[in-house]
Amino acid sequence: MRHALILFTLCLIGCAESPLFTSIGADFKSYVKMFDDLYSGSWPPIEIKFGQPSDASWAGECIQNEDGQKTIIIRETSWNKYCESQKRALIFHELGHCVLGRSHSTDTLSYMYPSELQCAFYDANKGTLDIELFK
Ligand SMILES: [Zn+2]
Repeated sequence: MRHALILFTLCLIGCAESPLFTSIGADFKSYVKMFDDLYSGSWPPIEIKFGQPSDASWAGECIQNEDGQKTIIIRETSWNKYCESQKRALIFHELGHCVLGRSHSTDTLSYMYPSELQCAFYDANKGTLDIELFK
């Protein structure tokens, strides 16, 4: 009975997961959840996985196949050297492309600025950056 209860509890957690998150690698889910909590709109399921972005200098890329299905590719070597706020900024940047249709910004006070910035910069400007992304 105890085992059945544990299995049932695991299923409640695992099986009740939103379809939005089923194609998202475990490393990325917490950042996607943060994005989803801030974003008031709905968005289609997007796959997020480690891989090789098409440009050697990119840490991530949003690609769209012929069916319109969008996939975010994250370079694992970049990811592994990032602090938490850089990881968050990268996922928010790619979701900015894939979900919000945003293009790059020349303003460093935007997650759509195309280069990674210092962890302390993201930490100090988190509120402003969050507002700017969803404006
Ligand atoms: Zn970009």
